[in-house]
Amino acid sequence: MESLDKLIASLKKFPNVGVKSARKIAYYLLRQNNDYLAELGSLITDLKKDLFICSECGNISDKDPCPICSDPLRDRKTLCIIEDVEALSSLEQSGLYNGLYHILGGKISPIDKSDFTEEAAEFLKKHIDDLEAEEVIIATSPKVEGDMTYYTLLDTLRDTKAQKVTRLAFGLPVGGAVEMADKMTLHAALEARRQVL
Ligand SMILES: [Zn+2]
Repeated sequence: MESLDKLIASLKKFPNVGVKSARKIAYYLLRQNNDYLAELGSLITDLKKDLFICSECGNISDKDPCPICSDPLRDRKTLCIIEDVEALSSLEQSGLYNGLYHILGGKISPIDKSDFTEEAAEFLKKHIDDLEAEEVIIATSPKVEGDMTYYTLLDTLRDTKAQKVTRLAFGLPVGGAVEMADKMTLHAALEARRQVL
């Protein structure tokens, strides 16, 4: 049953999936017909074929630059720094924010790096300076690892031409994240953002 073990090991890497759930999913898949499995397999295989990482903001899109960066109606002087595309989609769905984004990805750079690398810092600095941003809003989540991100970010931002740096006032419990916030909380967090640099 080597292939089944391998499948379980792969599924275990999914967010919030432990070994028990991974086994459950694997046995569920075993019971499905071949057409379904083939379709699921090809969806996964093709997932990254037509997607790009936006060269300006780090968003995932089928165009580069992404539709947000190329939208002339957005406020191009305000840049919001977020951790991942999920945070972007909840801010977008809230309709409360009309500026641009910079996505750090994971806990930082796009897709699978886990540290705020020199490269990620340069990417961010260039974005801010190219836009001549008037306000940079830090919206990383207030988790412990998010906070370490925050201090590294501050050091990087000191080095840019950003006129003002603010941070969302979360009002969320520790462990809360932008993607979990409802519209009212997000509104309050944006309204009460405070200047940090
Ligand atoms: Zn973009």
